[in-house]
Amino acid sequence: MSGRGPASAPLVCPSCGEHHQPEERFCRHCAIPLIHDPQGIEVRPIDERAERARKIKPQLAEGKLVRAAWARNQAEAEFIQGLLLEEGIPSLLRRTAGFDVPDFLAAGPRDVLVPEAGLPAAREVLLQAELIDEHAVPTGVAPVRLLAGLLLALAVGALVVWAATALAH
Ligand SMILES: [Zn+2]
Repeated sequence: MSGRGPASAPLVCPSCGEHHQPEERFCRHCAIPLIHDPQGIEVRPIDERAERARKIKPQLAEGKLVRAAWARNQAEAEFIQGLLLEEGIPSLLRRTAGFDVPDFLAAGPRDVLVPEAGLPAAREVLLQAELIDEHAVPTGVAPVRLLAGLLLALAVGALVVWAATALAH
């Protein structure tokens, strides 16, 4: 028989919520001090950064940062980050140059940067998700996709001009 139910693991990690035996002092995952959990209240894994850190593959986190993708906005950029993280690739977001003026901080496009070591894996992920543009595909790109990309770029440009005009008044 193993243990005496939940009471045999009264310590809980405040970061990941994992229960531990009384003789342990630190979380085996997070290496942070455990706390008592007398009421059996479940501690939710609220620390997203710890969650991310666990997924990242160290071998993909080496080298200088290079641009792996371009996103139209923060939400899209975070979506891409999520996809990359699922494959163990860490990433950072940076406002695309030329859009880093206060009016566009929230809405402007983002560069998704990954460590050099993670770039090949990142490209594979993004290609499979059809999230990177034709620059990553050698030849034979369907003109329709290319045209759609150009139109999109124009639309974004027009929106930016409109927003700038609107905000100026
Ligand atoms: Zn933990």
